[in-house]
This record gives sequence, C-alpha cells and structure tokens, in this order.
Amino acid sequence: PQLANQIAAGEVVERPASVIKELVENSLDAGATKVDIEIDKGGSKLIKIQDNGSGIEKDQLGLALSRHATSKLASLDDLDAILSFGFRGEALASISSVSRLTFTSRTASQTEAWQAYAEGSEMAVTVIPAAHPVGSTVEAVDLFFNTPARRRFLKSDKTEFTHIDEWLKRIALVRRDIHFTLKHNGKMVRNYRAANTQNQYLQRLAQVSGKQFAEHALAVDCEHNGLKLSGYIQSPYFDASSSDTQYFYVNGRLVRDRLVNHAVRQAFAEQLQGVQVGYVLMLELDPHQVDVNVHPAKHEVRFHESRYVHDFILQALQSALSQAEQ
Ligand code: ADP
Ligand code: MG
Repeated sequence: PQLANQIAAGEVVERPASVIKELVENSLDAGATKVDIEIDKGGSKLIKIQDNGSGIEKDQLGLALSRHATSKLASLDDLDAILSFGFRGEALASISSVSRLTFTSRTASQTEAWQAYAEGSEMAVTVIPAAHPVGSTVEAVDLFFNTPARRRFLKSDKTEFTHIDEWLKRIALVRRDIHFTLKHNGKMVRNYRAANTQNQYLQRLAQVSGKQFAEHALAVDCEHNGLKLSGYIQSPYFDASSSDTQYFYVNGRLVRDRLVNHAVRQAFAEQLQGVQVGYVLMLELDPHQVDVNVHPAKHEVRFHESRYVHDFILQALQSALSQAEQ
C-alpha cells in the first residue's frame, strides 16, 4: 500500500503548497470557520493545519488515512465529480505516505480526542488518545523524507513559502467568512480575520492586494437572469500598480479562462484604452450552466451559454468603470 500511496502522492502532492491546499480544503469541508496554518522551512520541515471544524469520529479516524476512504460521496452528482477530478479520498493517504503524518481530531460528541498515524511499509494505522479541542489538526513533518528524488525537487524555503502565500491569497479572497492565519518559522506572517462586512472585506483586500487597490477599489455588483458578478476592480484613475492582482472566481473556484479574460480585457480596452488594472471578481451562476472539469489543473471552465456570459461580464464591468468617471 505504501508504494501505491506514494505513486498517488505524485499526483496530489507536488510541493508543500499542494499539501496545504488539500488539508485546508478538508478543514473547509468540515465546516471550519478558523484555520491556522503553521509551517517551518517553507513547509519542508513542518506543515501543521489546525481547524475548528466538525472533527471526525474515532472509528473513522484511522480509516481516513487509507486510500479511497472518503466520507464525501453521497450522490450521483458526486460520482460525476470523481470522474472529472480523479479519485477522491486519496489526499491524506498520499500525504501520509511521503511524510510523518499525524491526524488528531475530536468531535463535539466525544469527550476525548484521538490521534492516528500510519507506519511501516504496510502503513498500519495506530490510534492513541490525545488532547485537542473540537476540530482537527493534521501535522505533516519532513515532507518527502522517504522519496529523496522528490525532495530534491523542492525549491528554496523562500520559493516554497511564496507558493503557499499565493495559494492562501487565492482562498482568502473568496472565503471571506473564514479566519486564516499563517505562521512561518514560529512567526505569524498572515492574519486574515473573518470579513463579514464590506469594510472588513476591503481590509482583507488591502492585506492581500495592497492598500492602493483597496482604497480606490470600484465595487462591481450586477445581477441578471441568474448570473451574478460581484467584487472589486481597481480604479484606473489612481494607481494601477496592483495590476498583478487578477483573480476571477466562478462559483467559488479560481479560473484562468480565455472567455473570461477576453471579456475583462475588452471592458478595459474600451473604457481605459487598454490600461491593465487589478481585479477580484466572483461570478455566480447555476452550476449546471458551467463545466468546471475541462482542465482541473489549468483552471479552465466551459460555459454552456458562453456568448451570453461573456457579454454579461463585459457589461457589468463597463457599468462599474463608467461610474468611476463621474
Ligand atoms: P476527501 O477529502 O477526498 O474525502 P481526504 O483524503 O482528503 O479525502 O480525506 C479523507 C477523509 O478524512 C475525509 O473524507 C474526511 O472524512 C476526513 N477528514 C480529513 N480532514 C479532515 C478535517 N480537517 N476534519 C474532519 N474530517 C477530515
Ligand atoms: Mg480532501
């Protein structure tokens, strides 16, 4: 099983940032409202994620470390998701096969916490009592310690940190309801408090994308026929130095899509003579109107009514930009 897990790990776990992505997504799936990330040496020494989610029952805990042990498949729709994203229920098993992983958890109905870890070539899972508030902590130490070839592919701590930081920005911009913290080498480097109001969200935007952007951000808020576009674009009349902040989410998922890019660029071309500005935009639509599985890794999507979506984005941005001039 260890070898099979390590092979699977090649797909799931490329670097510390991909471990963190999987673990934080699990925390969010568990309904956490606070997620604390701690890393040492760019994550190669330590990755620790603590959440205040639902936790997991003792008898499920050991199971969670074995392959294809997902608790998240309930319907046929989910089977579709498997077909498009590959097998689920492999992240923990994969990460556990290439690091020293412990999973500690307590549910609200348990008075005690339990900790599981897998060991040896058979990856036998041991479960022992532990101390932990309701929620979970997953700790992965010495990533790739047993796969030296993979370990050599890790870049400098600074580069790995940058990947983690960038991924955290992406999720922090769209999951405004979650309090995220990030500690690197014992020092708190990010603290994104839950943003329940527009003002609090603008503060988060300032943390992620710079004060200039947040102070002069133009609100986008447009709804029509089941399509909704919201978020912010940087006002072009102040400072366009945050133009590298370009985030577009479709139903909560970051996309880099040609059709979307085209609509955004066309709006800027017409209103701003092509000046590039930063944006953080969320498009929401009926999930049946979009295929998100075109290229999971490339962040592409396919809209069923692509022309219509394109023109909706264009018009929503044009109207936000035209208000700026007045
Ligand atoms: P998947 O997320 O695809 O189900 P994973 O390998 O990532 O597969 O996780 C396996 C299982 O472990 C999950 O289905 C879930 O039941 C449990 N689990 C993992 N992380 C957490 C967490 N932070 N809180 C509660 N349960 C968790
Ligand atoms: Mg998962």
